[in-house]
Amino acid sequence: MNHLLRCPVCGETFPDHGELACPDGHHGLLRAIYPEKQLTIRDEPGIFRYADWLPVQQVPRTQSGPVTFRSLEFAKEVGLSNLWIGFTGYAPHRSAFVPTCSFKELEAWPTVQRQKETGGGTLVVASAGNTGRAFAEVAGTMNQQVLLVVPKRGLERIWTSAPAENVTLIAVDGDYSDAIAVADRICELPGYIPEGGAKNVARRDGMGTVFLDAAVTIGSIPDHYVQGVGSGTGAIAAWEAALRLIADGRFGERLPRLHLAQNLPFIPLVSAWQARRREIIPEIDMPHAEEAIRAVNADVLTNRKPPYTVPGGLFDALSACGGQMYGITNAAAESAGLLFEKTEGIDPDPAAAVACAALLAAVDRGEIGEDACVLLNITGGGYKAVLEKYQVVPVETIRPGEVPACILEKSHV
Ligand SMILES: [Zn+2]
Repeated sequence: MNHLLRCPVCGETFPDHGELACPDGHHGLLRAIYPEKQLTIRDEPGIFRYADWLPVQQVPRTQSGPVTFRSLEFAKEVGLSNLWIGFTGYAPHRSAFVPTCSFKELEAWPTVQRQKETGGGTLVVASAGNTGRAFAEVAGTMNQQVLLVVPKRGLERIWTSAPAENVTLIAVDGDYSDAIAVADRICELPGYIPEGGAKNVARRDGMGTVFLDAAVTIGSIPDHYVQGVGSGTGAIAAWEAALRLIADGRFGERLPRLHLAQNLPFIPLVSAWQARRREIIPEIDMPHAEEAIRAVNADVLTNRKPPYTVPGGLFDALSACGGQMYGITNAAAESAGLLFEKTEGIDPDPAAAVACAALLAAVDRGEIGEDACVLLNITGGGYKAVLEKYQVVPVETIRPGEVPACILEKSHV
């Protein structure tokens, strides 16, 4: 039996043909409904251990996947007795072998597989950098055409562990939101399929494997979940994974509390949630957005249109789980990241460093008790180790003369 999709607005279920939205046009995040209520772990080396709860039929072979380990040294520094690290990246001493060093690769694998199974075409991905790198890596292995649109600032992050195949890379002036706008216009062309971001169940359930891996390793759903967020999709995915684990019956009955962080001074999600408002009001929640975005170190956390308001989105996740949001300065993130590297031997990326600082803040404020079971999602890291192992290759942007005329017309690249 195959999985189904369910609309959170009308409640209808229907077979998965690659939809990103309810066929009746309802505005909400579709959710995958899997026939297996109890999770069986498959004999796979990476993410597809959790294929029971991924929206794919076939399983490509990859070592890329999340790992979970108990923290001792960092936990001691933070003042916690039961801290677990969910890590996606490259750290051979932790059996972590994700060459692009980011949990975005967990999204890319099932998304590309689902795309192949539900119609093919060229997958169009807008990215601030990490998502683009992940899809570039997977496109080659999976023989899937991918078109990436990336702001020029993110170009240096688009590399692969082997020369990229099947990838077209376009760089645009502006920030992540400008890349999204160009990608949207390209998707109006025949044969170009939007990957859909948070709307794509494969992306969310791919990220949700971090939470599954943690619960399976710990033996129960953790009390607290800590992550740095741009769109908040990873937190939505953790909530959905927790709901499935509760339905499974073997991992406890309580949702985790969500502790989510953004990088000051760009913190629209923090601002809207602290007011317990379902809408993001740009003038209040992200004044001087362009200037604020330029000032943050973890620029992958700067999304101006996060899936916050939408039914099934981040506001609902925070409401269901009981959530807390934190604004973290560059300086706090940097020192927390260095502490993590010193104690755990893994260099976290700037977004993961924001999460480390949020954990320190949560413990400081008494939001997390010292014996609580805590999952810290280190969403990326291991860049130093990967450079020792691989000769990474930058992906070439296409030259203006090589941009197909139909794309130029639509996108004003
Ligand atoms: Zn509907």
